[in-house]
Amino acid sequence: MECVSFPPVNQFAICGGTHGNEMSGVYMVREMQKQKIEKVGSVSIITALSNPRAVDACKRYTETDLNRCFTDALLSAPITDSTPYELRRAHELNAQLGPKGSEEAVDLLCDLHNTTANMGLCLIFYSLDWITLHIYKYIQSKITSVPVRAIQLDIPPSEAYSLEAVGKHGLAFEVGPQPNGVLRADIFNVVKEAVDLTIEWLQQFNSGSTFEGGEVEAFTFAKSVDYPRDPATSEITAAIHPQLQDNDFKLLRPGDPIFLSFSRGDGEARGRRTLPFLCQRMCLLREEDCFPFSSQEHSDLPVHKSEEGLKAERQNETHINCRDFKL
Ligand SMILES: [Zn+2]
Repeated sequence: MECVSFPPVNQFAICGGTHGNEMSGVYMVREMQKQKIEKVGSVSIITALSNPRAVDACKRYTETDLNRCFTDALLSAPITDSTPYELRRAHELNAQLGPKGSEEAVDLLCDLHNTTANMGLCLIFYSLDWITLHIYKYIQSKITSVPVRAIQLDIPPSEAYSLEAVGKHGLAFEVGPQPNGVLRADIFNVVKEAVDLTIEWLQQFNSGSTFEGGEVEAFTFAKSVDYPRDPATSEITAAIHPQLQDNDFKLLRPGDPIFLSFSRGDGEARGRRTLPFLCQRMCLLREEDCFPFSSQEHSDLPVHKSEEGLKAERQNETHINCRDFKL
């Protein structure tokens, strides 16, 4: 198997509160700041509470979704009196942790999120990145309390819209189920364990360790399905069906019920065999009133070693429609 290498990953930025009502990241970052954790072995730790105004209000955001503000176009847009607070924060974070796409950007950025869906721990990253795939493989081999999966967004760097895109390497931890505005100890512990394992992997990587290659499974976005709505009022007219509720990533066959209509009975699944995730998002913000389906793909990881070349092909590339992907 081929052997690839990267320079050391000396800086690790950990961000929380990008969505102000996702509490694991808020408390994780606050605790690290309280303990003044700024360096662990070879790795400098940078922590940031991304959206303090939304955290104070315990809302996802105050004016616009901060985690959609990191495209090249928005980061280069001039700041004016009418610029939303979150876009101002995006510019500040880009100055602190980036600039995005530059040599000055932090080596690795991890943004901490929660979901109300029963997803366990999902690592989300853009494009193919051997560093984040190996971190995923390492975390997956160590955490046994919840399923550990990866979701890969195939979006060009210039259009990558979330905070982790600012780092040279980036990933988000999406952990659930946890209600918005609530901190569950079991979910917090998963987030802490994943952060600690990432630091552990970085220490090993920076010390010159070789990591075995292999196959990892990643999910890509296929489509999203909106809730049934009243055509006149657009109000939701059904809930997630009890057979589907909390069954994220379990195979959904054509004909399996998706929705339970408030007035008429079950709705039906549409389309091909899929694996649903984020199956618990009604009753939240309007833009979250849908849940995407995922499709699977596999990536062959090369042997990973410090200071040698890189090349590999992804298998079974799958088209991703990210317009409605709300994490
Ligand atoms: Zn979030």
